[in-house]
Amino acid sequence: MLTLNQVSRRYGGATALDGVDFVVPENTYMALLGASGAGKTTLLRLIAGFEEPDQGTISLNGARIDGQPSHLRDIGFVFQNFALFPHLTVAENVAFGLRHRAHAPLTNETEIKDRTDAALELVGLTGFGHRGVSAISGGQRQRVALARTLVCEPRIVLLDEPLGALDANLRARMCDELKAIRERLGVSFLHVTGSETEALTMGDQVAVLANGRIMQSDAPDMLFSHPGNAEAARHLNAWNIFDASLCRGDLGQGPIAVRFDQIDVSAETAAPSERPSLHATYLTGEFNGPTALSFFRAADGTLLQVVDHLSQPRLPDLVEGQGYDLHFAADALRQFHGAA
Ligand code: ATP
Repeated sequence: MLTLNQVSRRYGGATALDGVDFVVPENTYMALLGASGAGKTTLLRLIAGFEEPDQGTISLNGARIDGQPSHLRDIGFVFQNFALFPHLTVAENVAFGLRHRAHAPLTNETEIKDRTDAALELVGLTGFGHRGVSAISGGQRQRVALARTLVCEPRIVLLDEPLGALDANLRARMCDELKAIRERLGVSFLHVTGSETEALTMGDQVAVLANGRIMQSDAPDMLFSHPGNAEAARHLNAWNIFDASLCRGDLGQGPIAVRFDQIDVSAETAAPSERPSLHATYLTGEFNGPTALSFFRAADGTLLQVVDHLSQPRLPDLVEGQGYDLHFAADALRQFHGAA
Protein backbone atom coordinates (compact mmCIF):
# COMPACT_ATOMS: atom_id res chain seq x y z
CA MET A 1 0.00 0.00 0.00
CA LEU A 2 1.27 3.43 -0.98
CA THR A 3 0.38 6.24 1.42
CA LEU A 4 0.91 9.97 1.00
CA ASN A 5 0.37 11.98 4.12
CA GLN A 6 0.02 15.79 3.91
CA VAL A 7 2.42 16.01 0.97
CA SER A 8 3.15 19.52 -0.32
CA ARG A 9 5.39 20.76 -3.10
CA ARG A 10 5.98 24.39 -4.01
CA TYR A 11 7.87 25.88 -6.95
CA GLY A 12 8.88 29.41 -5.97
CA GLY A 13 5.63 31.12 -5.03
CA ALA A 14 3.42 28.54 -6.79
CA THR A 15 1.95 25.62 -4.85
CA ALA A 16 1.72 22.50 -7.06
CA LEU A 17 0.60 20.16 -4.26
CA ASP A 18 -0.99 21.38 -1.06
CA GLY A 19 -1.28 18.79 1.71
CA VAL A 20 -2.14 15.72 -0.38
CA ASP A 21 -3.55 12.76 1.54
CA PHE A 22 -3.76 9.78 -0.77
CA VAL A 23 -3.75 5.99 -0.53
CA VAL A 24 -3.18 3.45 -3.31
CA PRO A 25 -4.25 0.06 -1.89
CA GLU A 26 -2.59 -3.25 -2.78
CA ASN A 27 -3.53 -4.96 -6.04
CA THR A 28 -5.49 -1.97 -7.36
CA TYR A 29 -5.73 -0.04 -10.62
CA MET A 30 -5.82 3.53 -9.34
CA ALA A 31 -6.63 6.26 -11.85
CA LEU A 32 -5.70 9.81 -10.89
CA LEU A 33 -7.76 12.38 -12.76
CA GLY A 34 -6.76 16.03 -12.97
CA ALA A 35 -6.79 18.96 -15.39
CA SER A 36 -3.61 20.22 -17.01
CA GLY A 37 -1.41 21.84 -14.38
CA ALA A 38 -3.24 20.12 -11.49
CA GLY A 39 0.00 18.58 -10.26
CA LYS A 40 -0.33 15.01 -11.57
CA THR A 41 3.21 14.70 -12.89
CA THR A 42 4.59 16.38 -9.78
CA LEU A 43 2.81 13.81 -7.62
CA LEU A 44 4.32 10.92 -9.61
CA ARG A 45 7.78 12.49 -9.52
CA LEU A 46 7.63 12.77 -5.72
CA ILE A 47 6.56 9.14 -5.38
CA ALA A 48 9.29 7.98 -7.77
CA GLY A 49 11.90 10.07 -5.96
CA PHE A 50 12.86 12.34 -8.87
CA GLU A 51 11.95 15.18 -6.50
CA GLU A 52 11.32 15.48 -2.77
CA PRO A 53 8.27 16.97 -1.05
CA ASP A 54 8.64 20.22 0.90
CA GLN A 55 6.38 18.73 3.56
CA GLY A 56 4.68 15.45 4.34
CA THR A 57 5.60 11.78 4.12
CA ILE A 58 5.39 9.03 1.51
CA SER A 59 5.32 5.38 2.63
CA LEU A 60 5.23 2.07 0.84
CA ASN A 61 3.91 -0.85 2.87
CA GLY A 62 4.35 1.15 6.05
CA ALA A 63 8.00 2.15 5.49
CA ARG A 64 8.96 5.73 4.64
CA ILE A 65 10.39 6.11 1.12
CA ASP A 66 10.63 9.90 0.87
CA GLY A 67 14.28 10.88 1.18
CA GLN A 68 15.40 7.54 -0.27
CA PRO A 69 17.29 7.63 -3.57
CA SER A 70 14.97 6.96 -6.49
CA HIS A 71 16.71 3.77 -7.65
CA LEU A 72 16.29 2.12 -4.24
CA ARG A 73 12.52 2.58 -4.08
CA ASP A 74 11.58 -0.32 -6.41
CA ILE A 75 9.02 1.83 -8.17
CA GLY A 76 8.33 1.50 -11.89
CA PHE A 77 7.72 4.58 -14.05
CA VAL A 78 6.23 4.53 -17.53
CA PHE A 79 6.75 7.88 -19.22
CA GLN A 80 4.24 9.49 -21.54
CA ASN A 81 6.66 9.51 -24.49
CA PHE A 82 7.87 5.96 -23.58
CA ALA A 83 11.54 7.14 -23.33
CA LEU A 84 12.91 4.08 -25.14
CA PHE A 85 16.52 3.91 -26.34
CA PRO A 86 16.19 4.32 -30.12
CA HIS A 87 19.47 2.56 -30.97
CA LEU A 88 18.62 -0.60 -28.98
CA THR A 89 16.34 -3.47 -29.97
CA VAL A 90 13.11 -4.24 -28.18
CA ALA A 91 14.80 -6.97 -26.10
CA GLU A 92 17.80 -4.76 -25.30
CA ASN A 93 15.48 -2.00 -24.14
CA VAL A 94 13.68 -4.42 -21.83
CA ALA A 95 16.90 -6.01 -20.56
CA PHE A 96 18.52 -2.62 -19.92
CA GLY A 97 16.91 -2.15 -16.53
CA LEU A 98 17.97 -5.62 -15.38
CA ARG A 99 21.61 -5.07 -16.38
CA HIS A 100 21.95 -1.56 -15.03
CA ARG A 101 19.79 -1.34 -11.96
CA ALA A 102 21.67 -0.03 -8.92
CA HIS A 103 20.20 -2.73 -6.75
CA ALA A 104 21.47 -6.27 -7.64
CA PRO A 105 22.09 -5.85 -11.41
CA LEU A 106 21.94 -9.10 -13.37
CA THR A 107 24.96 -10.40 -15.28
CA ASN A 108 23.85 -13.95 -16.04
CA GLU A 109 22.85 -13.83 -19.73
CA THR A 110 20.50 -16.81 -19.51
CA GLU A 111 18.61 -15.25 -16.63
CA ILE A 112 18.46 -11.89 -18.42
CA LYS A 113 17.09 -13.58 -21.55
CA ASP A 114 14.53 -15.63 -19.64
CA ARG A 115 13.24 -12.63 -17.73
CA THR A 116 13.18 -10.45 -20.83
CA ASP A 117 11.25 -13.11 -22.76
CA ALA A 118 8.79 -13.49 -19.89
CA ALA A 119 8.22 -9.71 -19.77
CA LEU A 120 7.69 -9.56 -23.55
CA GLU A 121 5.26 -12.45 -23.33
CA LEU A 122 3.37 -10.67 -20.55
CA VAL A 123 2.75 -7.64 -22.80
CA GLY A 124 2.03 -9.74 -25.90
CA LEU A 125 5.29 -9.07 -27.75
CA THR A 126 6.78 -12.54 -27.99
CA GLY A 127 8.86 -12.70 -31.18
CA PHE A 128 9.45 -8.93 -31.35
CA GLY A 129 12.66 -8.91 -29.28
CA HIS A 130 15.07 -8.55 -32.21
CA ARG A 131 13.24 -5.59 -33.81
CA GLY A 132 14.49 -2.04 -33.55
CA VAL A 133 12.13 0.16 -31.51
CA SER A 134 11.64 2.40 -34.53
CA ALA A 135 10.41 -0.62 -36.53
CA ILE A 136 7.31 -1.24 -34.38
CA SER A 137 4.00 0.57 -33.96
CA GLY A 138 3.12 3.18 -31.34
CA GLY A 139 1.06 0.68 -29.35
CA GLN A 140 3.91 -1.82 -29.44
CA ARG A 141 6.36 0.84 -28.24
CA GLN A 142 4.00 1.51 -25.37
CA ARG A 143 4.08 -2.17 -24.47
CA VAL A 144 7.90 -2.26 -24.67
CA ALA A 145 7.99 0.66 -22.22
CA LEU A 146 5.69 -1.28 -19.93
CA ALA A 147 7.74 -4.51 -20.27
CA ARG A 148 10.92 -2.57 -19.48
CA THR A 149 9.32 -1.33 -16.28
CA LEU A 150 7.70 -4.63 -15.27
CA VAL A 151 10.81 -6.77 -15.84
CA CYS A 152 12.37 -5.29 -12.69
CA GLU A 153 9.34 -6.40 -10.62
CA PRO A 154 8.49 -3.01 -9.13
CA ARG A 155 6.38 -2.77 -5.99
CA ILE A 156 4.10 -0.28 -7.72
CA VAL A 157 3.94 1.06 -11.29
CA LEU A 158 3.41 4.76 -12.04
CA LEU A 159 2.08 5.60 -15.49
CA ASP A 160 2.17 9.23 -16.64
CA GLU A 161 -0.61 9.72 -19.23
CA PRO A 162 0.40 6.38 -20.80
CA LEU A 163 -2.19 6.51 -23.56
CA GLY A 164 -1.68 10.17 -24.48
CA ALA A 165 0.61 9.45 -27.44
CA LEU A 166 -1.70 6.83 -29.00
CA ASP A 167 -4.56 7.35 -31.45
CA ALA A 168 -8.14 6.81 -30.27
CA ASN A 169 -8.60 3.20 -31.49
CA LEU A 170 -5.32 2.06 -30.05
CA ARG A 171 -6.07 3.85 -26.79
CA ALA A 172 -9.25 1.82 -26.30
CA ARG A 173 -7.36 -1.42 -26.93
CA MET A 174 -4.46 -0.51 -24.66
CA CYS A 175 -6.97 0.31 -21.89
CA ASP A 176 -8.09 -3.32 -21.89
CA GLU A 177 -4.54 -4.61 -22.16
CA LEU A 178 -3.18 -2.49 -19.33
CA LYS A 179 -5.97 -3.69 -17.08
CA ALA A 180 -5.41 -7.34 -18.03
CA ILE A 181 -1.63 -7.14 -17.55
CA ARG A 182 -2.05 -5.54 -14.14
CA GLU A 183 -4.53 -8.20 -13.07
CA ARG A 184 -2.12 -10.96 -14.10
CA LEU A 185 0.69 -9.36 -12.06
CA GLY A 186 -1.33 -8.33 -9.02
CA VAL A 187 0.81 -5.20 -8.57
CA SER A 188 -0.84 -1.78 -8.14
CA PHE A 189 -0.83 0.68 -11.04
CA LEU A 190 -1.18 4.43 -10.51
CA HIS A 191 -2.24 5.87 -13.85
CA VAL A 192 -2.57 9.64 -14.24
CA THR A 193 -4.77 11.13 -16.91
CA GLY A 194 -6.68 14.25 -17.85
CA SER A 195 -9.48 12.20 -19.42
CA GLU A 196 -12.46 11.38 -17.25
CA THR A 197 -13.59 8.57 -19.58
CA GLU A 198 -10.13 7.00 -19.37
CA ALA A 199 -10.07 7.33 -15.58
CA LEU A 200 -13.57 5.88 -15.15
CA THR A 201 -12.88 3.03 -17.59
CA MET A 202 -9.50 2.05 -16.19
CA GLY A 203 -9.70 2.64 -12.48
CA ASP A 204 -10.83 0.19 -9.83
CA GLN A 205 -10.65 3.45 -7.95
CA VAL A 206 -10.51 7.00 -9.27
CA ALA A 207 -9.02 9.95 -7.40
CA VAL A 208 -9.61 13.55 -8.46
CA LEU A 209 -6.72 15.98 -8.03
CA ALA A 210 -7.56 19.70 -8.11
CA ASN A 211 -6.20 22.81 -6.45
CA GLY A 212 -3.23 20.76 -5.26
CA ARG A 213 -5.37 18.30 -3.27
CA ILE A 214 -7.18 15.01 -3.66
CA MET A 215 -10.83 16.05 -3.80
CA GLN A 216 -12.26 12.54 -3.73
CA SER A 217 -11.01 8.97 -4.12
CA ASP A 218 -13.71 6.43 -4.78
CA ALA A 219 -14.97 3.55 -6.91
CA PRO A 220 -15.73 4.95 -10.39
CA ASP A 221 -19.50 4.41 -10.19
CA MET A 222 -19.64 6.07 -6.75
CA LEU A 223 -17.58 9.03 -7.93
CA PHE A 224 -19.71 9.40 -11.04
CA SER A 225 -23.08 9.25 -9.29
CA HIS A 226 -22.09 10.75 -5.92
CA PRO A 227 -19.37 13.37 -6.38
CA GLY A 228 -18.59 14.66 -2.89
CA ASN A 229 -17.85 18.26 -3.84
CA ALA A 230 -18.15 20.69 -6.73
CA GLU A 231 -14.53 20.15 -7.81
CA ALA A 232 -14.98 16.40 -8.15
CA ALA A 233 -18.25 16.91 -10.05
CA ARG A 234 -16.60 19.43 -12.37
CA HIS A 235 -14.07 16.81 -13.51
CA LEU A 236 -16.65 14.24 -14.59
CA ASN A 237 -18.06 16.09 -17.63
CA ALA A 238 -21.53 14.86 -16.72
CA TRP A 239 -22.67 17.39 -14.12
CA ASN A 240 -24.00 20.93 -14.38
CA ILE A 241 -22.78 23.01 -11.46
CA PHE A 242 -24.63 26.20 -10.67
CA ASP A 243 -25.65 28.34 -7.73
CA ALA A 244 -28.77 27.22 -5.88
CA SER A 245 -30.05 30.81 -5.86
CA LEU A 246 -30.83 30.48 -9.61
CA CYS A 247 -33.56 27.96 -8.81
CA ARG A 248 -37.16 28.51 -7.91
CA GLY A 249 -37.90 26.48 -4.82
CA ASP A 250 -36.28 26.92 -1.49
CA LEU A 251 -32.76 25.65 -2.11
CA GLY A 252 -30.84 28.52 -0.49
CA GLN A 253 -27.40 29.42 -1.83
CA GLY A 254 -24.18 27.64 -2.69
CA PRO A 255 -23.17 25.26 -5.47
CA ILE A 256 -25.50 22.48 -6.56
CA ALA A 257 -24.97 19.88 -9.25
CA VAL A 258 -27.43 18.09 -11.51
CA ARG A 259 -26.37 15.52 -14.07
CA PHE A 260 -26.78 16.32 -17.79
CA ASP A 261 -29.16 13.38 -18.22
CA GLN A 262 -31.38 14.26 -15.27
CA ILE A 263 -32.65 17.63 -16.45
CA ASP A 264 -36.00 17.96 -18.25
CA VAL A 265 -36.93 20.92 -20.44
CA SER A 266 -40.33 22.53 -20.98
CA ALA A 267 -41.80 25.80 -22.21
CA GLU A 268 -41.16 28.72 -19.90
CA THR A 269 -43.94 29.35 -17.43
CA ALA A 270 -44.52 31.74 -14.57
CA ALA A 271 -46.53 29.15 -12.67
CA PRO A 272 -44.83 27.72 -9.58
CA SER A 273 -43.41 24.30 -10.32
CA GLU A 274 -43.42 21.38 -7.94
CA ARG A 275 -39.89 20.44 -8.89
CA PRO A 276 -36.81 22.62 -8.52
CA SER A 277 -36.42 24.59 -11.74
CA LEU A 278 -34.60 27.49 -13.36
CA HIS A 279 -35.01 29.63 -16.43
CA ALA A 280 -32.39 29.37 -19.16
CA THR A 281 -31.99 30.37 -22.80
CA TYR A 282 -31.39 27.67 -25.41
CA LEU A 283 -28.14 28.28 -27.26
CA THR A 284 -27.53 25.37 -29.58
CA GLY A 285 -27.49 21.59 -29.90
CA GLU A 286 -24.89 19.00 -30.76
CA PHE A 287 -25.70 15.60 -32.23
CA ASN A 288 -23.36 12.81 -31.13
CA GLY A 289 -24.97 9.71 -32.63
CA PRO A 290 -26.84 7.91 -29.86
CA THR A 291 -27.07 11.06 -27.76
CA ALA A 292 -27.85 14.72 -28.38
CA LEU A 293 -26.48 17.54 -26.21
CA SER A 294 -28.36 20.80 -25.76
CA PHE A 295 -26.66 23.90 -24.39
CA PHE A 296 -28.43 26.56 -22.33
CA ARG A 297 -27.34 29.79 -20.67
CA ALA A 298 -28.73 30.61 -17.20
CA ALA A 299 -29.51 34.16 -16.04
CA ASP A 300 -26.11 34.56 -14.35
CA GLY A 301 -24.25 33.37 -17.46
CA THR A 302 -23.64 29.77 -16.33
CA LEU A 303 -23.55 27.32 -19.23
CA LEU A 304 -25.82 24.31 -18.72
CA GLN A 305 -25.92 21.07 -20.68
CA VAL A 306 -28.78 18.62 -21.11
CA VAL A 307 -28.25 15.23 -22.69
CA ASP A 308 -31.00 13.35 -24.48
CA HIS A 309 -30.70 9.69 -25.47
CA LEU A 310 -32.20 9.14 -28.88
CA SER A 311 -33.80 5.86 -27.84
CA GLN A 312 -35.80 7.70 -25.15
CA PRO A 313 -36.10 11.34 -26.22
CA ARG A 314 -37.63 13.62 -23.59
CA LEU A 315 -36.85 17.12 -24.89
CA PRO A 316 -39.33 19.22 -26.90
CA ASP A 317 -38.29 20.91 -30.16
CA LEU A 318 -36.03 23.76 -29.10
CA VAL A 319 -35.68 27.18 -30.70
CA GLU A 320 -32.34 28.99 -30.43
CA GLY A 321 -32.52 32.17 -28.37
CA GLN A 322 -35.79 31.19 -26.67
CA GLY A 323 -36.21 30.81 -22.90
CA TYR A 324 -37.16 27.47 -21.31
CA ASP A 325 -37.72 25.99 -17.89
CA LEU A 326 -35.13 23.43 -16.86
CA HIS A 327 -36.36 21.22 -14.07
CA PHE A 328 -35.32 18.11 -12.24
CA ALA A 329 -36.36 15.80 -9.44
CA ALA A 330 -35.41 17.07 -5.99
CA ASP A 331 -33.42 13.89 -5.35
CA ALA A 332 -31.43 14.33 -8.59
CA LEU A 333 -29.54 17.32 -7.25
CA ARG A 334 -26.44 17.29 -5.13
CA GLN A 335 -25.89 20.25 -2.89
CA PHE A 336 -22.41 21.19 -1.73
CA HIS A 337 -21.21 23.65 0.80
CA GLY A 338 -18.69 26.35 -0.06
CA ALA A 339 -18.10 28.42 -3.19
CA ALA A 340 -19.21 27.19 -6.64
P1 ATP B 1 -0.17 18.30 -17.37
O1 ATP B 1 -1.39 17.42 -17.44
O2 ATP B 1 -0.34 19.55 -18.19
O3 ATP B 1 1.11 17.58 -17.62
P2 ATP B 1 0.16 18.15 -14.50
O4 ATP B 1 -1.12 17.93 -13.77
O5 ATP B 1 1.04 16.98 -14.69
O6 ATP B 1 -0.12 18.90 -15.87
P3 ATP B 1 2.42 19.34 -13.17
O7 ATP B 1 3.37 19.16 -14.31
O8 ATP B 1 2.56 18.43 -12.01
O9 ATP B 1 0.92 19.30 -13.69
O10 ATP B 1 2.52 20.84 -12.68
C1 ATP B 1 1.80 21.35 -11.57
C2 ATP B 1 2.10 22.82 -11.38
O11 ATP B 1 3.44 23.02 -10.96
C3 ATP B 1 1.95 23.65 -12.65
O12 ATP B 1 1.37 24.89 -12.32
C4 ATP B 1 3.35 23.78 -13.17
O13 ATP B 1 3.48 24.97 -13.93
C5 ATP B 1 4.16 23.82 -11.89
N1 ATP B 1 5.50 23.22 -12.07
C6 ATP B 1 5.77 21.93 -12.34
N2 ATP B 1 7.10 21.70 -12.40
C7 ATP B 1 7.70 22.89 -12.16
C8 ATP B 1 9.06 23.35 -12.09
N3 ATP B 1 10.09 22.50 -12.25
N4 ATP B 1 9.26 24.65 -11.84
C9 ATP B 1 8.24 25.51 -11.66
N5 ATP B 1 6.95 25.15 -11.71
C10 ATP B 1 6.67 23.88 -11.96
